[in-house]
Amino acid sequence: MIDMELFEISSCGEIVIGRNAIDRIPYLCSRLNLKGKAVLVTDKIIYDAVGKGVLSSLSSCFEKVDLVLIEGKASERNVSIVQGKLKSCRDVAVFGAGGGTVIDVAKLAASRENRPFISVPTIAATDAMASPWSVLWEKGRSHAFKAKPPVAVIGDLDILINAPYRFQRAGFGDFISKVTALRDWKLAYLLGKEKYDEYSATIAKAVTDLLIKHADEIGRKTEKGFKVLLEALIFDGFLMAAAGTTRVAAGSEHLFAFALASLAPGSGLHGEQCGLGTILMSKLHGLDWRKVKDALMKAKAPTTARELGVKDSVVIEALTLAHKTRDWYTILGDGISREAAERLARETEVVG
Ligand SMILES: [Zn+2]
Repeated sequence: MIDMELFEISSCGEIVIGRNAIDRIPYLCSRLNLKGKAVLVTDKIIYDAVGKGVLSSLSSCFEKVDLVLIEGKASERNVSIVQGKLKSCRDVAVFGAGGGTVIDVAKLAASRENRPFISVPTIAATDAMASPWSVLWEKGRSHAFKAKPPVAVIGDLDILINAPYRFQRAGFGDFISKVTALRDWKLAYLLGKEKYDEYSATIAKAVTDLLIKHADEIGRKTEKGFKVLLEALIFDGFLMAAAGTTRVAAGSEHLFAFALASLAPGSGLHGEQCGLGTILMSKLHGLDWRKVKDALMKAKAPTTARELGVKDSVVIEALTLAHKTRDWYTILGDGISREAAERLARETEVVG
């Protein structure tokens, strides 16, 4: 008998991507046997832009649809507001329409209340749309929580492609993180600090290479380039579920992004910060950091502190604090000195 640990993959269910995909919500709900009541979680800006279309599609297949407009960051407070809404009714499906913040809040609330969650991303800026994790922010620090993956992801191309391009270049940065995240994960495994799944690591590497190959098309905003990006971001959910850890998608470059977001809230989108982090950490790993920079430039994503809109000194400080943002073992080890951080940022031309 093979001596093998119990292996379970709990990943995202149905995926519907296409033009006017939100019109397919009634069909999808009947196939998933979702009926009765629905709660739509979104925020005011998204509701005004595209949320009304989602609401009208939901109203045609549910007896009652409640709207929850969240404000601010993905936080315990916002999750408990949604949970409060869900406690009042047993048969309720939860829809989260928006970016990572809305989706992470709705996903975690649905997971905690054991309700089905349907993800309706309106931007392609992060891999939150299909992942079995939610990231919340408390007192300037981010924390990841395991959540049940969505039973369906509905990606309406008319909405996603027409969102400002900045979100797509951030999505590219979030995914390209794997260049260094996979190295960090392997390093932690070799040092006996993490479990490792070679299967998911191999697939993650292949998809990252594919995305880098299409960086130019993504930057030129072609439909093909967009499709490659969106599929990669959705596929990230499967990778994390199969790996059983976010380490397949996030490493030292994410630690840098978390530190930067704490030090300078509002300084760029998460994926843009990750892109910068991937250039920096590639150098530490002895990889070809110019190749990463070149891919980011092709995708028209920021590659310097100035382009991201942060001071050089903030990037350097974030480098020295990054290792403290999670208890992950990465190339950053116990942290790097200010001198080493400055040298790294200068040599990779992230600061000038
Ligand atoms: Zn990320």
